[in-house]
Amino acid sequence: MKLADLFDHFIIDLDGVVYIGDKPTEGAIETLETLRTLGKTIIYLTNDPRGSSRDYSDKLNRMSIPASPHDIITSGMAIAHYIKQHYQLNHKNAFVVGSRALKEEIEEIGLKLAQGEEAKRADFVIVGGHEGFNYEEMKIATLAVKNGAYLFATNRDPVFPTPEGLVPATGAILASIEYATGKRAIIAGKPEVIMFEVAKKFLSSHERVAIIGDRLDTDILGGKRAGITTIFALSGSTDRDVLSNSDITPDYVINDLRDLLKEK
Ligand SMILES: [Mg+2]
Repeated sequence: MKLADLFDHFIIDLDGVVYIGDKPTEGAIETLETLRTLGKTIIYLTNDPRGSSRDYSDKLNRMSIPASPHDIITSGMAIAHYIKQHYQLNHKNAFVVGSRALKEEIEEIGLKLAQGEEAKRADFVIVGGHEGFNYEEMKIATLAVKNGAYLFATNRDPVFPTPEGLVPATGAILASIEYATGKRAIIAGKPEVIMFEVAKKFLSSHERVAIIGDRLDTDILGGKRAGITTIFALSGSTDRDVLSNSDITPDYVINDLRDLLKEK
């Protein structure tokens, strides 16, 4: 009996499970190949709103992991799905604090991107971390929310890892806008359930589904909130000490993806 035998569908966090930076994790290429051969569905998740689904599928393909943009859910895509599902978007516009990829996701659901004076009265403000963030964006987003815009963000991660160390992520940028407006954003990314609900829409069944992630406070907590079996991978940013001291308990623990296929 292998752990993989218990599931037909895997929702897999990318960073720390499939790869770290630009390097696939130990055995990831072979394991993912075998899972596909066994007929398992694989959906990849990332909280990083800077790239498009195609950017991430291209990255996987460069590592010899076959994937198409349809196999990948970013937090930008998840918030766009959520807004489309819950709001009337006819003749509405949005001010987006974020990457080109996030702006495209928002345009694709039918919202017009507001600029200049118009942006200060936008109907929606959507925040995703990006390197070009500046005071002008913070100001316009604040004015729009004060004027009644709904506030959304892709995720609330405070930092993300880079070769220089941990640098500010979406959560840090969002905090400035929430502080200025006194409003709290609706978030799509893990551990919020929106991301998992969007992922479930990509699956043919909601039975025998597992989320595999390397963070307890996002992947595992989010999976539990969404009612999905959780598999915690030690290949990323969390070690066994953190695991034993946490009150978030995953259903299964693996060292890396290879453990899915080991006989138990
Ligand atoms: Mg991760």
